[in-house]
Order: sequence, then structure tokens, then C-alpha cells
Amino acid sequence: MNRTFHLVSLGCPKNLVDSEVVYGLLEKAGWNGVDEPEEAAVLLINTCGFIQPAVEESIEEILQLATYKSADPSKKLVVIGCLVQRYREKLEAELEEVDLFVGTEGVVQVAPLLNRLADGIETDSLVIGDPFLMTSALPRRRSTPFFRAWLKITEGCDNRCSYCMIPSIRGRLRSRSEEDLVEESRALVDGGVRELSLVAQDLTAYGTDLCGERRLESLVRKLLDRTSVDWIRLLYLYPSTVSTELIDIIAENDRIVPYLDIPLQHVSTKILKAMNRRYNREVAVDLVAEIRKRIPDAALRTTLLLGFPGETEDDVKEVESFLRDTELDHVGVFAYANEEGSAAERFSLQVEEDEIRERLARIITLQSEISQRRLRRFVSRVEPVLIEGVSRETDLLLEGRTRYQAPDIDGCVLINEGDTRSGEIVEVEITEAQIYDLVGRIV
Ligand code: SF4
Repeated sequence: MNRTFHLVSLGCPKNLVDSEVVYGLLEKAGWNGVDEPEEAAVLLINTCGFIQPAVEESIEEILQLATYKSADPSKKLVVIGCLVQRYREKLEAELEEVDLFVGTEGVVQVAPLLNRLADGIETDSLVIGDPFLMTSALPRRRSTPFFRAWLKITEGCDNRCSYCMIPSIRGRLRSRSEEDLVEESRALVDGGVRELSLVAQDLTAYGTDLCGERRLESLVRKLLDRTSVDWIRLLYLYPSTVSTELIDIIAENDRIVPYLDIPLQHVSTKILKAMNRRYNREVAVDLVAEIRKRIPDAALRTTLLLGFPGETEDDVKEVESFLRDTELDHVGVFAYANEEGSAAERFSLQVEEDEIRERLARIITLQSEISQRRLRRFVSRVEPVLIEGVSRETDLLLEGRTRYQAPDIDGCVLINEGDTRSGEIVEVEITEAQIYDLVGRIV
């Protein structure tokens, strides 16, 4: 068998980092990645499985790749990642077309296992592996543009939100050392990275497993001092552990973008308690007020989970009033659904699906007006923009993002005047605010 593989990566940036490490390890072991599945001897898919829609998407993608194997039975189909970690034997029994399953902890085993497959050596068809934590020493083939990278600072999660299956899929919290993260960041910056987005299941938990105390503030200071990265972005901050010190660091350092991603999930104290989140409405309100006081112009992003068991009309009204009062910039709104094996699955007072849909639509409509209003504050301002390249909509425009727009999640800036290269940070005068995007010209 020739040593070629085609890799499909699903799910969140944290999963993408795993895919990038798997890719790097395979290349180091002499394998070649190919863009077209028809050309690959091994079809490899890194799955997501933390909620049902993601599970369904993963299964569809596996079946799609399986059609290439049906057309050419000499190909091998290998499924790795969260879906395997979550459903294990069940998948093995139901997806006969798959040759090998590897769980999230088996990242470093994929290359040797594929070698065995290629050499026709019999091997277990399901490998889960021991708890894995990436290090800067592992080869990583990045899939993001050269000027931007994800930095995964922890693995797993010690929180026990009652709706969430991540801790049982990804295991206990494990933080990488500050030294190792500085090392990796320096290498990324040497390779052209200008914006580093720190990701984790819960960014503020960083360090608690290493030394019993939160170390995100210390890590961020080290990244500022010991790398020359232009922009640092902090994603997934747990609300009650965003410290005043962290807010101060962001306020005092231009190189940390004024953008805070704080998943609140809800704001009704009763629902937050049932969700097993460690804060209440007051904490959420105070946190937003404190951030606005210290960093008046910060862009705030959150996610909300609506329709949690026991949620009443009054709880939804609380969400509405919170959104009206706080005027957050970006809000991702999701419908609660029971996750097999989660604590909330057994909760009484489940909300009807129709009702959840109606609540979701209401909140989305309300927030879209607020988000548009917030976006309009940029018109006439001159903002630094990290240029990504020619716009995906038309090659007559350039596209980039301000510090207030996170890659892959928020809108962008469409540039209709002036020219520059991808990866440059240039000053752009914002001339128009559309529904999600801004329009501007290079000055
Ligand atoms: S913080 Fe809660 S929602 Fe997020 S991964 Fe951990 S348990 Fe899941």
C-alpha cells in the first residue's frame, strides 16, 4: 500500500489542533497528505461528538468517505477523535466499513497504527490510548493561514456542567507548562503567525491542575514578554473566574485584543444552578460592568443555551432584559437538547421542542438588532485590520478582521479601496456597517 492519506477534520479549533498534530506525525513517519480522497490509500477522519448534531454530521462524513472505499476496496477507512471516545464499541459494531477507530487520547498512536495497516500487520480495530497532552516537541502541520494559529493550552475539563459530555469524552483537566507554551508560540511567530488565539475548554482553569492556582494571567504575561506576537486573543473564559487582574492585563496591553469570549449559557440564577455553573445573574451583570468600566470599547461575545429543563417564560424574559441592558457584541444562541449520559438528561420539566424553537427565534431577533447597533460604532473609525486575502465573496475585495472580530466566528471587514498582502496588519477606515460585516478602505 502506498503511504498517502486524506484527512477530514470536524468540530472545534481544539480538535483541529489534534488534526494538525496527527498530520505532522504522519508526515514525519513518511506519509503524504493528499487533497483528493480518490488519491489516498487511507481515508482519515477526525470526528466531533459532543452534541447530537455534531454526532450526526460525523456519521454522515464517515459514510461519505466510505463511498470512496466502496469504489476502491483497497483503501482503508480510519476514524479518530471525540465520536470514537464517546461511542467506542457501539461504533465498532455498527460501522463495518471502518478499518480502525482511535480515540482522542490516541493521537500519537495514529502514525504507528497506520504503518501496521499499510504493512498488513493485524492490529486491534479500536484503540483508546492513555491520557494525552500535546507538547511543542510534536510536529504540527498547521491548516490555518500562515499568519494565524490556535494555541491549545489545556486538555480536558474539571467542570461538571450538567448538560455537557466533554469531561467524559476529553477527560480531566491537564494544563501544558508555561515553558512549553512559550516555546510553541515562539516557533509559531517565527513561522509568520501574527495572531495567536488561546483555546481550551475553560481557559481560566489553566494551571489549577499543575499548582493548585489559576495561571492564565501569568501565562499571558509570559507570552507578551517572551514572544513578539502582534495579537493575542483569549477564547472560552469561564465567567466567575475572569479575574480583575486578567481584565487589567487586557486593558493595559494593546497586544491582547480587546475581545472577551465568555460563555454565559444563561443568566437566570435558577437555571445556572441547575446547569451546575458556578455563578449567578448578579455575577454575570457585575462582570460585564467591570469589563466595560476598565475596557470601555471591548467586544464581548457569549453563548446562550435556551430551553434547559425547568426554563420558564420568566427565565427567558431575564435573558431578554440582560441582553438589552448589557448590549453584548456577539451572542451565539443554541437550543438545549438532551445528551445521552449527561446529568440533565434525567431532569424533569423538559421544555417542548416547539417552545424552544420559539424562544430561540425571539432571542436571535432581539440580539441581531443589538449586534448591528454595536457594529455601527465602528463607522468612521480607523482600525488596524489583519488582512486575510481576497474576499471569499468576490475577488474585487480584500477581506480581513479587526481586533474586535474573531476568526471563524464573527463577521469580517470587506476592503474596497487600497491593496496589500495577506498577513499584513494595516490601518483601515471603516465606511459602512452591514448586518455582520464592516466595509472600509485602507488609509
Ligand atoms: S466548562 Fe462546562 S460546558 Fe465547558 S467543557 Fe467544561 S463541563 Fe463542558
